Amino acid sequence: MATTLSSGTGSSGSWREPDLPKGRVFAAPDYNQTKEQQREATMRRIWHLKSRGVFDGWLTDFGADAERRLLASLECLAIYDHSLSVKLGVHFCLWGGAIKFFGTKRHHDKWLKDTENYVVKGCFAMTELGHGSNVRGIETVATYDTNTGEFIINTPCESAQKYWIGGAANHATHTVIFAQLLMNGTSQGVHAFITQIRDADGNICPNIRIADCGHKIGLNGVDNGRIWFDNIRVPRENLLNSVADVLEDGRYVSSIKDPDQRFAAFLAPLTFGRVNIATTAVYISKVGLAIAVRYGLTRRAFSISPNGPEVLLLDYPSHQRRLLPLLAKTCAMSCAANYLKRIYLQRTQRQTKLSIYTLVL
Ligand SMILES: Cc1cc2nc3c(=O)[nH]c(=O)nc-3n(C[C@H](O)[C@H](O)[C@H](O)COP(=O)(O)OP(=O)(O)OC[C@H]3O[C@@H](n4cnc5c(N)ncnc54)[C@H](O)[C@@H]3O)c2cc1C
Repeated sequence: MATTLSSGTGSSGSWREPDLPKGRVFAAPDYNQTKEQQREATMRRIWHLKSRGVFDGWLTDFGADAERRLLASLECLAIYDHSLSVKLGVHFCLWGGAIKFFGTKRHHDKWLKDTENYVVKGCFAMTELGHGSNVRGIETVATYDTNTGEFIINTPCESAQKYWIGGAANHATHTVIFAQLLMNGTSQGVHAFITQIRDADGNICPNIRIADCGHKIGLNGVDNGRIWFDNIRVPRENLLNSVADVLEDGRYVSSIKDPDQRFAAFLAPLTFGRVNIATTAVYISKVGLAIAVRYGLTRRAFSISPNGPEVLLLDYPSHQRRLLPLLAKTCAMSCAANYLKRIYLQRTQRQTKLSIYTLVL
């Protein structure tokens, strides 16, 4: 049962940088830990890596080499602790990536360094209870108030609550909200806005409600949550405006007139996360298979002749039929993942629709 955390309370479990953790931060996983302990372990590991400068340049370096390094780092971490890799992926690739690729210079200057240093802890509120893969159908609404120069963002119904949002239940201080932008009663489609959801003490901001998604069958080191917005106000500058913008007088401007193409341009920067999920999935298959194959090559069971040696598990056809197709598939997927990474890193700026708006203006 999800616990609702009301605004203005510190019961959200704020997380501040502790003293450098003592003991074995990266000791082998303890499967008896509660989800709260697993979540704290994830944050301790993040702090440990941060204090050693591991994240330097993860967002503030640009270009293919920087992206290659980031992908490789997340893959290595996923081999050890999938929750750690996902929690970092949400903060750096979804929240940070949205700012880097949907945003423009003003957003980069304000947010990227603070994100890299964990001064802000970001999450990414796109999925809703009623709409996941069909992002275009989300129901959260943003309207522009010309009198104050702010957007008003609202969750109009229960199916519009943001759902599964990684980092929302405990630690995130900020989020990128995806909402339908209504200008003079006309929908301009899905747009992304930055907003604060908690203060530095962990108090949830006014007019925001957050609930914990609770225990999951895996990834319990990530605090997934649900978020409702009750007509919160967001400054105009917080619209991530690489594809479209709202001017001070309320005029909507975009270099892409076709809403379908505009939507595609919005989603293109999310490709990094998709590449990362695909490649880490292959590594996780490799870890599982390494354990199973090694066991099959060392453990013996039953002998064919009365006093003969026992047979290796992997010499049994039943064992081979189970493991070898998976091994072959994982090898093929590994080549495919490397190919995917290569074509992603060699993409042109035009393909990513990077800064289309600023290029044209
Ligand atoms: C652990 C976890 C962490 C997450 N973290 C985040 C996060 O940080 N931020 C965020 O915004 N989102 C997050 N998500 C949400 C994730 O992006 C969505 O789960 C994903 O987009 C799929 O949406 P959905 O779960 O609503 O399912 P959908 O894919 O929308 O499917 C809904 C239903 O429709 C069916 N269906 C889907 N497609 C078809 C089709 N073509 N034909 C027929 N039936 C179909 C499915 O079988 C399912 O029953 C997270 C999810 C999980 C599980």
